[in-house]
Parts: sequence; structure tokens; C-alpha cells
Amino acid sequence: MIFMLLYSRITINQTYVKDDIMNNLFSNNLNNVEISGIRKFFNKVSTVQGAISLTLGQPDFPVPINIKKAMTSAIHQNKTEYTANAGIPELRHEISNFLGGMDINYLADEIVITVGGSEALLCTFAAFLNPGDKVLVPSPAYPAYESCVKIFGAEVVNYNLNSDFTINFESLCKLINEQNPKLLVVSYPSNPTGAALSLEERDKLYRILKEKDIYIISDEIYSSLCYEKYYSIAQISELRDRVILVSGFSKMFSMTGLRVGYVCASKYIMDNIMKVHQYNVSCATSISQWGAYEGLRSCMNDVNNMKVEFEKRKEYVYKRLIEMGMEVTLPKGAFYIFPSITKFLMSSEEFCNRLLYEAKVAIVPGSAFGNGGEGFIRISYSYSLEVLKEGLDRMEKWLEMLNTTE
Ligand code: PMP
Repeated sequence: MIFMLLYSRITINQTYVKDDIMNNLFSNNLNNVEISGIRKFFNKVSTVQGAISLTLGQPDFPVPINIKKAMTSAIHQNKTEYTANAGIPELRHEISNFLGGMDINYLADEIVITVGGSEALLCTFAAFLNPGDKVLVPSPAYPAYESCVKIFGAEVVNYNLNSDFTINFESLCKLINEQNPKLLVVSYPSNPTGAALSLEERDKLYRILKEKDIYIISDEIYSSLCYEKYYSIAQISELRDRVILVSGFSKMFSMTGLRVGYVCASKYIMDNIMKVHQYNVSCATSISQWGAYEGLRSCMNDVNNMKVEFEKRKEYVYKRLIEMGMEVTLPKGAFYIFPSITKFLMSSEEFCNRLLYEAKVAIVPGSAFGNGGEGFIRISYSYSLEVLKEGLDRMEKWLEMLNTTE
């Protein structure tokens, strides 16, 4: 017994922590927060020799040359000090103009530059949430929403999507009435489904939300990659004071590692978001902000060229999947496609594990995007057509083998 008490401890990378200390060491809020399933699968790829990865949301284009030049010149001009907490005014003005072009109206003073869309999301959730608050999150969705909500001890309430990944308005309405949530997350174009918001859906959403006290976080990080006319809930002026728009340049300018995002909100909301942002990071990286500024001024052609290329890839991947007999919805935005795998009678995790180890192609199980993602797989087409062709050839062969042997 004494022996057990003395040696009751946990070994973590050669560090010994007593059980009773370990139990209280970390925030209880983290108990249900998982490491991203997207990264889990990406990391597995390196363990399988010759495997092709179609896992990540990282465009395969270089950063536009003018952005590179602006960043190096910012270094040479010693623009390497802290910027204002909210970011450089030049970039905030440029974002205000850019959003105005999409009928989304925020003044430069209502825009704060963040360290990627990720920091914008975390700061926004931090500004609003108390333990026990409820947040409506679509399922499937980008996993950060659920994790951020849990980090602040708040509760996730999932809302369902229809089979074409549009919002199931009936069930959303019911949840708003019954659960009294504080926040609603909407995310278009969607990671992982590729769905975009149509005019009818936008207006329907408005009609539901106008009478309610709910605040809306609209993640529009893929807005520059919408293959149809762009609609956003932030375009509705009557809701504007309750919408927090989160976006950024990771995807738009293919600058994921340079970490520039932004959040837009009315002043009374932004004052609170700023309290978190200020103590979190002080400001986004100065030279990256100058890069994004130049991007908005002179790189919209590059953005358009990337979009044209992504659209070609979308058509190609969709056609190949249909030819393989997959059930799949044509994406309307972003660079993901989300086919159903229910007919294969295995979980999305098993499907992806087998595809990786038996056919050497890595994709992400739908379950990584919440309960509503089970029965689906996410393929990212932010890879060249050659890589996509090879990945899909392997997948096709594997599916043929599966059909004949099982
Ligand atoms: N929102 C969505 C829907 C995303 O897919 C991502 C990145 N994959 C982000 C936000 C965060 O992007 P970042 O922090 O690179 O700007």
C-alpha cells in the first residue's frame, strides 16, 4: 500500500507527475478538447513511404511576388516594430474597401488585424463566452469552433445540415427557440463541405435571426474562393451590429505561414475582442501586415488566377469521384470536396486508414469535423492536377479492389 502511494505517479516523457497533482494540473475545460483530426492524418502520411497527401488546406501557389517584395522592403525600411494593437491603419482601410466591394460595410475602426483567422476566432469566443453559455455550431464544421467553445467552458450545440450541406432551417429554428444560445457560428464557403451561402438562404437566415437576441460569428476565410455570386449574412445592415465577421489572408494570398487575419465588428463588441487580442499577441506581425496590404492593392489578379485553377481542379476531382460511383455534392467554394462513404459500411476513420495503408493516399475522415461528418471523407484539392490525378488513380484502383473482394 505504502509502496503504491509513494509510486503512484504518471510518466510523461520522462517527467514524473503524481496522480493527485496531475488531476488538478490543467484546466478541466481541456478534457474534451482533442488535437485536430486533420493534423493527425497529415502527420500519419510521413510514416507511409510514397504516400500522397490530399489532407491540408494549404494552397500550393507561392505567395504573390508583390507581397514578397512588400515584406522584404518592410524589413529594409525597419518596419519591424510593434504596430498599433488593432493593426496598421493602411491595411484596415484597404480591408474596409475590399469588403465594401462585396456589400459588407465595416469602417476601418471596426476592423482589427489578428494572427490569422485562428486568433480572430479565439479572441471572439473569449470576448463572449462564460461557462455554461451555449453556442450553435454546424456539424460538420471546421474543428476549431467546437474546441474554442470548450476551451472557455461553454457548451456546443450542433445544428444539422441537409444532405446538400445547406442549413436545415427547421432544426436551426427549433434549437434557437429551445436552447437559447448566445452565439451562432456560420461558415461559408465551408470547410469541409464546400457549400456556399445562396441569396435565398441568406435571406431566410436573416428572417429567422432578426427577432432573436443571438450573435452571429461568420467565418468567411474562403470568401475569395467562391465559384458563385457571393452572399454573406454580414451584408444585411439590420444584423450588422450583431455579426462578427472573421476572415484572413491565409487562403486568399496563399500565405498561411505569414499569419494575417482580421475580425470586424461594431465598436461595442470590438472593445471587448480587443481586450483579449491586446494581451494575447499585442499585434499581428508587422511585416506580414505590410505584405497583406500590398496584396489587397496589387495582387487581386493573382487571387483570380488561383481561383480559376482551383475551379478546374474542383471540376476534375468531382468528375473523377462521380466516375468512381461516389455520392458527392459539387462544391460551390473553398478547395474541399466531401463525398459520402456510407455505402462502404465502414467508419470514416477506418476508410481513411485503409486508404492510406493499402493505397497510399491520405485524406481526412469526416469524423474529424464533428459527429455530422461521420459517413464522409474530406479531399483537399489544394494540390496540383498531377498530384490529384495520381491520388485519385490510386483511390479508384483501391475501390475496385474493395468492390471485388468485399
Ligand atoms: N476558418 C476556417 C474555416 C479554416 O479552414 C481555417 C484554416 N484552415 C481558419 C479559419 C484559420 O485560418 P488561419 O488561422 O490560417 O487564418
